[in-house]
Amino acid sequence: MKKHNFSAGPSILPQEVLQKASEAILNFNGLDLSLIEISHRSKEFIAVMDKAQALVKELLELPEGYSVLFLQGGASTEFLMAPYNLLTEGGKAAYLDTGSWSSKAIKEAKLFGDTVVVASSKDKGYNYIPKGYEVPSDADYIHFTSNNTIFGTQLNEFPGGDVLKVVDMSSDIFSRKIDYSQFDVVYAGAQKNMGPAGTTVVIVKDEVLGKSGRQVPSMLDYKTHADKDSMFNTPPVFAIYVSMLTLEWLKSKGGVAAIEKENRAKAALLYNEVDSNPSFVGFAAKEDRSIMNVTFNLTDESLKEKFDALCLESGISALNGHRSVGGYRASIYNAMSIESVQVLVKAMQDLNK
Ligand SMILES: *Cc1c(COP(=O)(O)O)cnc(C)c1O
Repeated sequence: MKKHNFSAGPSILPQEVLQKASEAILNFNGLDLSLIEISHRSKEFIAVMDKAQALVKELLELPEGYSVLFLQGGASTEFLMAPYNLLTEGGKAAYLDTGSWSSKAIKEAKLFGDTVVVASSKDKGYNYIPKGYEVPSDADYIHFTSNNTIFGTQLNEFPGGDVLKVVDMSSDIFSRKIDYSQFDVVYAGAQKNMGPAGTTVVIVKDEVLGKSGRQVPSMLDYKTHADKDSMFNTPPVFAIYVSMLTLEWLKSKGGVAAIEKENRAKAALLYNEVDSNPSFVGFAAKEDRSIMNVTFNLTDESLKEKFDALCLESGISALNGHRSVGGYRASIYNAMSIESVQVLVKAMQDLNK
């Protein structure tokens, strides 16, 4: 029996995607060759890249004027690519600090110029999303993290103002319907909600390419990759292929609107248990709770051994909170079934027996 995988990342993928991916490793498209031993410039792989890009555009309902790139280096490399490509010499970058990933992005931006933090929830251990802040109108862009994977908070409203918007959506891309035309750069490491580790999807508005006016090294320049259709150098073929399969799976399930409904049902089920079960307490402020990463703690630490044993017996895997916050974190990404969430809820109930 496959385990109920609550891992935050790399994380659960649909079983049928894993099956197809394993077949392509041995014999791709009946070529009698593996997917990972053919040229990325073969017509077979170019078709994979084209399909993956088209599915991103279709599922996110992107308007014309955006390029979809599949890059390497993880979301962490985007922390520096964003300022390199967007922060002008002598200009200013604005950041919303909602957790560890935001802080890491801020650290990189500081290498490129004046970086202002418009608001931070660090004062309360990042358990909420700051509101009511001003975005300076002279900033080159505002950067924010749509879902805070570690703390289990999520933005329901996005910063406004007449500046470029850059968003790290690593852990909630494709999970809920959003108007993407409000953003100028969107990036997400594949391994949370799209595919295996090894590629980062970057969606960039063509208008902003070359915006910083800096001399950017080729590999770090969005324009290089947009001009070459993500084939400037060898792309991570396997990660892109599996991402394409996951996006096909998502489309077959009815797309983002349909999965959002399921995601909200799973999250509601679990938060309801966290709130009604006297042995648990939620970590994040209620109005800012994430529908992807549900963080909670025991009210009595002495129950830990019993609860961990119940989880083990039930086939629950990777429920530990991030090493920086402790407690528990259930990551319930798109591929997780409501049945797996029900198993967790039952283990939480059994703790009180
Ligand atoms: C996991 C994660 C990252 C880091 O991604 P890497 O691909 O490991 O560099 C950045 N931002 C968020 C929101 C994440 O969840």
